[in-house]
Amino acid sequence: MSKSTNRHGTIVAAFGRHYEIELADGSLATGYPKGKKSPFAVGDEVELTVDGQITGHGPRRSLLYRSDAYRQKLIAANATQLLLVVATDPSFSDMLLSRALVAAEHEGLTTTIVLNKCDLTSALPAARKLLAPFIALGCRVVELSARFDPSPLLPLLAGESSVLVGQSGMGKSTLTNALVPGAAAPTRELSTALDSGKHTTTYARLYRLPNDTCPGGTLIDSPGLQEFGLKHLTAQEIEFGFAEFRPFLGQCRFRDCQHLAEPGCAIKEAMAAGTIHPRRLDHFRQFTSESRHGSH
Ligand code: ZN
Repeated sequence: MSKSTNRHGTIVAAFGRHYEIELADGSLATGYPKGKKSPFAVGDEVELTVDGQITGHGPRRSLLYRSDAYRQKLIAANATQLLLVVATDPSFSDMLLSRALVAAEHEGLTTTIVLNKCDLTSALPAARKLLAPFIALGCRVVELSARFDPSPLLPLLAGESSVLVGQSGMGKSTLTNALVPGAAAPTRELSTALDSGKHTTTYARLYRLPNDTCPGGTLIDSPGLQEFGLKHLTAQEIEFGFAEFRPFLGQCRFRDCQHLAEPGCAIKEAMAAGTIHPRRLDHFRQFTSESRHGSH
């Protein structure tokens, strides 16, 4: 942090390579990275020149991101909590939940699953069934209907920096609008396909939550996603992301057991005993297979 002409602030919105930065005095500035590839994310504490060039970011307590074979996508910096938004209808991918959980565990974030659209009661049993493996491993699930009453989530947001992640159509923007009065987050999950302009409607934004309901809380709304690549993680890091596997790690007959067809596998025995859910072992095998073969 050098020249006195430089300014400091927090990135509160990311539009591709352009950023909106809230300066220390509360005013907003526009910033951009020097190079073609940006290392910055919403939530970052940054320094920028008077011209708006971002010259660096401060230490991060976390960096949530996903990656495939070709590139990385930064989702949020300095978050403390991941809110995984799913809905009763349309249905959601439980494998995507497992992927996001692994990424969150790797960054030390606590995870809460938000089951939205619970007013659609006919779809509720199927959604709960899909969530059962996650409830079994100790993941917190909050059921609500963002359109009508987001209050079940409020006690979990005070003092936390929460990042909303979910597939398109799960109602993230509706939830944001319900939690942040005046946010007017566009329901872009639905409108993206219709968006013809170059000024993309999919962007991440940080909101400060109301002091009377969530003192000290911030919320980062991220674009809807259909993929959550874990290319940046090793097989060991993926294994670490399956919290319910941990008591059994190191107990397989073979030290390099991949929990596939090997005899004496403690993970498979735990599954047979009902301690590990078969869906979760499926997910684990899928992720480590991708990690080994460099696919996805
Ligand atoms: Zn094993």
